[in-house]
Amino acid sequence: MYRTSGKVILLLMAAIVVPGVAVLLNTCAQKEGEIMNEKIETVSRLEAGKLKITVIYDNNPYKEGLETAWGFSCLISGAEKTILFDTGGNGSILLGNMQKLAIEPNTIDLVVLSHIHGDHTGGFDSFLEKNSKVTVYLPKSFPTKFKDKVTNCGAKIVEVEQPLKICENVYSTGQLGRLIKEQSIIVQTDKGLIIITGCAHPGIVKILNAAKDLLKDDILLAMGGFHLEWATKGKIKKIISAFKQLNVRYIGPCHCTGHKARTLFEKHFGKNYIKVGAGKIVTAADL
Ligand SMILES: [Zn+2]
Ligand SMILES: [Zn+2]
Repeated sequence: MYRTSGKVILLLMAAIVVPGVAVLLNTCAQKEGEIMNEKIETVSRLEAGKLKITVIYDNNPYKEGLETAWGFSCLISGAEKTILFDTGGNGSILLGNMQKLAIEPNTIDLVVLSHIHGDHTGGFDSFLEKNSKVTVYLPKSFPTKFKDKVTNCGAKIVEVEQPLKICENVYSTGQLGRLIKEQSIIVQTDKGLIIITGCAHPGIVKILNAAKDLLKDDILLAMGGFHLEWATKGKIKKIISAFKQLNVRYIGPCHCTGHKARTLFEKHFGKNYIKVGAGKIVTAADL
């Protein structure tokens, strides 16, 4: 009897202490990135004409001369900061493709890592060797060993748990999902939201809903890995109708979206389907 009530007391204590710790961590994170709450209002939207997204790393080919390999990485330029989103699976392919695209690693201010999988973080060490003067936004759930490695290189880290503002007009959805925690990036332009996903493990529709709820704006473009490589045709069709309901205007699925889903998306989105692969440059002005 005593043992049971002891357990109950422990559980009750945990229930009180855990939210307390969460509040504390939120406060710590606020020093680096601003956590989204009612106090943060989007003052102005980024002029879409300024924004450029360059796909550095993808398993789908696009630009001749670039190497393709399983993984994803892209450069977001034209916002307040120049951001590298994910780093692909292999450092020499990442840096080689960057060179071919005339992207200087030391012009990058921030790195945002979507999730821990090697096809998104594998090129990160090689990048850090070229430029460690960056701030790295990573899901809080990343292993301590990984975080220590980053800080030991001299880079700063921001552990992402809640949705937060990364820089002017650029936001993180916060780490979503249960098993594999993942953050996606949102750029708020004057034409609507651009959402870029790494692998979309939490579910692409869930991610888009989270972005829309957060910024209360229309979705101009969703691009990146949608994680539908192994999905059935039925599931893909359901996702397409969810996209239509959400009023997603343009889509650029790549990486782990898979050939079957890409073909179906292209069929349903027609001229609003963007063929994305290594070397593709998406200029928001054209959308
Ligand atoms: Zn993954
Ligand atoms: Zn992936």
